Amino acid sequence: MTKTDWDRSARLQAFCERADRLDAQGLHIQHAAICARRCWLHLHRASMNEWSENIRLGFQRHADSHGRDRSTAGLLGLHPDRLDWEAGIVIEEKTSASYLEASMDQAAFYAALMSRATGRIWSARLYVMGSKRYHEVSLDPGRVERLERALDLIETLKRATAVPAARPISACRGCSNNEFCGFAE
Ligand code: SF4
Repeated sequence: MTKTDWDRSARLQAFCERADRLDAQGLHIQHAAICARRCWLHLHRASMNEWSENIRLGFQRHADSHGRDRSTAGLLGLHPDRLDWEAGIVIEEKTSASYLEASMDQAAFYAALMSRATGRIWSARLYVMGSKRYHEVSLDPGRVERLERALDLIETLKRATAVPAARPISACRGCSNNEFCGFAE
């Protein structure tokens, strides 16, 4: 292992240990890049996801396309869509390219956890169903920096007793919390 690889592994190890302490999950990482208020609601188990038709349809689409996939069987506390164990690649699917960087952060988060679990550096691949395009995600310093900043925000939001103020953004349109925030169309 080169010194660069060793440094990266040590940094990923420290990141994963901090994520464990914070009980951070992939969706928290994705929300952190989109909306602090959405992230706070999810962290404090106050999100309206359970009642969201969009989310229910997303789960259904995923179940339909991966009905026989067993690549993630046996994983505990980690929910990537698929894994290529041989190549060391996490594969995530999204219906659209909206908030692509946030989705790439989520996929990178799973790759970081898989890297720790297996002792080799994983990468990720994001498949956008709408455009039928793959986007490669590597655990390069810029991506790891984004993940570390996401954990900073998650740590702050976990401690915060009040929900951050609602500010309208384009993501409100498809957000399960938009009625609660007053941005339902
Ligand atoms: S509706 Fe908008 S402001 Fe409210 S949680 Fe969702 S994205 Fe954030």
